[in-house]
Amino acid sequence: MTVRELRTDVLVIGGGTAGFGAALGAARQGKSVRLVEGTSKIGGVMAFCPGMPWGGGYPTGRSIGGVFGELTDALLALEPPMAEVRPSTLENFGYEVIYDHEAAVFAMFQMLEDASVEVHLNTFAGAPVMEGERIARVECTDRTGPIAIEAGMVIDCSGDGDTSARAGVPYVVGDGRGNMMGVTLSFSMVGADWARVFAKGDPYFEEEAAFGIAQGLIHPDLAKLYLMKGFHPDTVFCNSVHIRGVDGTDPQAVARATQEGRRRCHQLARFLTRHVPGFEAARMSELGPTVGVRETRKLEAVQRILASDLRRGAKPDDGIVACDNPIDDVMRGDEAMTHDAIVAKGDYYTIPLRAMVPERMQNLLFAGRLVCADPAAFASVRGMPQCMAMGQAAGTAAAMALASGVPVQALDPVRVAAALAAQGMRGIGGDRLERHVPALEAA
Ligand SMILES: Cc1cc2nc3c(=O)[nH]c(=O)nc-3n(C[C@H](O)[C@H](O)[C@H](O)COP(=O)(O)OP(=O)(O)OC[C@H]3O[C@@H](n4cnc5c(N)ncnc54)[C@H](O)[C@@H]3O)c2cc1C
Repeated sequence: MTVRELRTDVLVIGGGTAGFGAALGAARQGKSVRLVEGTSKIGGVMAFCPGMPWGGGYPTGRSIGGVFGELTDALLALEPPMAEVRPSTLENFGYEVIYDHEAAVFAMFQMLEDASVEVHLNTFAGAPVMEGERIARVECTDRTGPIAIEAGMVIDCSGDGDTSARAGVPYVVGDGRGNMMGVTLSFSMVGADWARVFAKGDPYFEEEAAFGIAQGLIHPDLAKLYLMKGFHPDTVFCNSVHIRGVDGTDPQAVARATQEGRRRCHQLARFLTRHVPGFEAARMSELGPTVGVRETRKLEAVQRILASDLRRGAKPDDGIVACDNPIDDVMRGDEAMTHDAIVAKGDYYTIPLRAMVPERMQNLLFAGRLVCADPAAFASVRGMPQCMAMGQAAGTAAAMALASGVPVQALDPVRVAAALAAQGMRGIGGDRLERHVPALEAA
C-alpha cells in the first residue's frame, strides 16, 4: 500500500486539552503544526465526559490565563454567555468553569483554525521511526491508509504515550504498582428541578446513595453520588459511575468498562427519577461515548514532580503553570476517593517544564496527564486547565527549540517560562498570584 508522506514543523499527538494547548502554543510561534487525533472530536476526556467542569484554573482565586483564560473569556463573551465561573461544591477545590459543551468544542476548533493548525481527525499515531535519539517520522493511519509524518519536533499529548513508549521513553504505570485510578462514564439528567434536587446541600447525596445501595438499586461503588448543577438550568451533571481496575491502554478493556458503565448509568438514572426528589420529570442525556480514563502511563522526564514539592508550594524558575488543586485521587486499586488539600490555603505551586522533557529523546516533549509525577502529585496536577497550560508550554518550547536548533534538553526553561508569562499566563516567570481573594476576579 502506498504510504502518504507529510511534513510539519511540529507534530502534536492527541487532541485532548493538552494537545489543544500544544498545537496553539507552537502554531502561534509561526510553526507549521499537525494535530493528530484518534477520535472524531477534539477534547479528549472533555469530549468523552461532555459537560465536565474545568477545575483548578483559579489558584488563589485568579485565572491562570493563557489559552485556558482565552477560551473561558470567549465563552463568557458570547450572547448569551456559554460559560460560568463558580465555586466548586467539593472540598478544597477553588473555582471551576462550567460551560455549554458544544459551544466550547466549537470555540476550540475555531481557535485551532485561526492559528492555522492542520487537524487530522480519526487518525492514529503509531510507531516512531528513529534516527539515533531523534524521532524522524511517526507512522500514522487514517481511513485512506498509512501516513508517514516527518516532524522537526513531536509533542506527545496522547494521555497514554503509546508512541513515546515505543520510542523507548521509560514510563511508570499508575501508582508504580500498576494500580490506576478508576475510569468513569458520565451523563447528565435534563429536566431536573434544581431547587428540590440540591435542597440538602450535600454534593455527594450520601443518604440517598446509602438507601439505593442497601436496596440493591445501584452499584456498591456509588456510595458518593457526585451530582452537580450543569451549565443549563435544568441540567444535572453526574460524575459518579467509576469502574475500578481498568487498564486504559487496552482498547478491549475500555470497551468492556464502557458497557459496564452504561449498565450502571442507566440503573442510576432510573434510581434518581424514582427515589430522589426533583428528578421525577428528568431524563438521561449526554451519556459519554466511552469512559474517561484518568491515569495510565506517566513518562519519565528530567524531573519528577513530587508531592513534597507541592506541599511546600514550590515555584521553580521553570514553573509553567500555577496550581492549587487538592489530591484528587479516584479509587486507585481498592482505595476510596480523596480530595485532600496539598498546598496551604492561599498558596499554590507551579508545574516545572522539566517534568515534560525526556532525558534522552532530543525532539520530543510531552504534556497533560502523561507528565512525570509521583502518584500523589499526579492526582493534583491533572486538571484540564493545567493540561491546556502544560500543552501551551510544550508547544511554545518546541517552537523555541526549533528556532534555535537545539535539542529540547538544551532549552533554557527560564526563557520558556518568561515567554509564557508574556503570552498572558499568570503566576509564573516572576508574576506571583498574591493571596487568596474570596471575591472572584474576572477570568
Ligand atoms: C472521569 C474524569 C473526571 C475528571 N474530572 C475533572 C474535572 O472535573 N475537572 C478537571 O479539570 N479535570 C478533570 N479530570 C482530569 C482531566 O479531564 C484530564 O486529566 C485531562 O483531560 C487530560 O487531558 P490530556 O489532553 O492530557 O489527555 P486526554 O484528555 O486523555 O486526551 C488524549 C487524547 O489523545 C488521543 N489519542 C490517544 N492516543 C492516540 C494516538 N495514538 N493517536 C492519536 N490520538 C491519540 C485520545 O483520543 C484523546 O483525545 C477528569 C478526568 C476524568 C477521566
